[in-house]
Amino acid sequence: MEDCLFCRIVRGEIPSRKVYEDDEVFAFHDIHPQRPLHLLVVPKRHIASLATVTAADEPTLGRLLAVAHQLAAENGSPDGFRVIINTGYVGGQEVGHLHAHVVGGNDPVGPMLKRI
Ligand code: AMP
Ligand code: ZN
Repeated sequence: MEDCLFCRIVRGEIPSRKVYEDDEVFAFHDIHPQRPLHLLVVPKRHIASLATVTAADEPTLGRLLAVAHQLAAENGSPDGFRVIINTGYVGGQEVGHLHAHVVGGNDPVGPMLKRI
């Protein structure tokens, strides 16, 4: 994926505030944080969204979720955090490379959704 924003961040072609990297996933600070802690965790290999995952992606998705606790604890959210994966048009996904938002801080992040 030549032009994909998050593929370019993973490759180091666009700078990011990286906090973690292993063979499967890459994590960095969101450029527009919505909470005192706001990280993005992405698969290194391009996966467009949760709507396109295959069985082969399952280990990567497991890793992506499994690192969230450690990253939150190490970066200022020791007492919990929220993981959000926006998917597709209805989910409000803006960047077409699967990413988990890890949000938190010292205070509760608040209600899960606005009531309709
Ligand atoms: P989503 O709406 O779930 O697709 O979220 C995309 C997120 O990517 C937003 O929270 C943006 O602030 C974030 N974002 C966009 N460009 C960058 C960038 N260059 N570095 C870090 N985060 C970014
Ligand atoms: Zn990509």
